[in-house]
Amino acid sequence: MATKLNFNHSLDFEYGKPDQLAPQITRIIANNPSPITFKGTGTYVIGNKEIIIIDAGPKDKNHLEALLKFAKGKVITHILVTHSHADHYPLSYELQKYCDAKIYGHKPDFSDALDDIGEDMHGFIADIELNDGDIIENNEIKLKAIYTPGHSASHFCFEFAAQNALFCGDHIMGWSSTVVLPPDGNMTLYMKNLQKIADLKFDILYPTHGAPIVQPNDYINALINHRLERDEQIIRCIENGLVGLDEILLAIYPELNPALHSAARKNIQAHLLRLIDLGLVKNIWFD
Ligand SMILES: [Zn+2]
Repeated sequence: MATKLNFNHSLDFEYGKPDQLAPQITRIIANNPSPITFKGTGTYVIGNKEIIIIDAGPKDKNHLEALLKFAKGKVITHILVTHSHADHYPLSYELQKYCDAKIYGHKPDFSDALDDIGEDMHGFIADIELNDGDIIENNEIKLKAIYTPGHSASHFCFEFAAQNALFCGDHIMGWSSTVVLPPDGNMTLYMKNLQKIADLKFDILYPTHGAPIVQPNDYINALINHRLERDEQIIRCIENGLVGLDEILLAIYPELNPALHSAARKNIQAHLLRLIDLGLVKNIWFD
């Protein structure tokens, strides 16, 4: 049965102002709103005295100042990067000039994959390459890295077991479904890793874009069903004789914002690649 997806488009915040969302969890949002980033990149600061930064954000002077102001009198012990998209990592290097923390993340496997929607993954290099299950800890905080490729081949989420919480980057967003753009994005892995997160039964997810998601499993199941419905729509388009990505795109998104056209086209391609993986569509749909 179809589950309705309810996206939350409200977000109470001010750019650059720290919002304490829970004990030891503060978020500061960068002023880089777009059709892809919603209101902007949410940088999480975990801890009170020894702090871990997750996704420092884009190279933005005001955001750097806001992070440094909040970090004053605290020790930044780690800088984590959920994935190598340009709204998440570039400020890490600027931040590193003011602290001794190393940058943790996973190098991009497809370095030129997202140029067409303005995201450029060139240049992300971690000091320390993450592996699934790695523990990141200081005297105050312990996090676990969970490898979740799908939105990006480089994607990690970070589990905060003390609060049964997950910092989920762009794997799951609060305000929208996640774009999955091949080849960096992979729908087969994305679906598998949505289920991986559902199986861990978190009480709350903290996405980079959008509001936190409380008791998230219904939401994750709705995201999975939404994709399954999209699979079915595409199969129906093919059965009805539609040929090529553009015809399917028009049939599925008749009133799409032109700014999202390229992303939606690749999203359909991602579904087609998954359907090919599943043996439901023949390998004739590349262009
Ligand atoms: Zn991303």
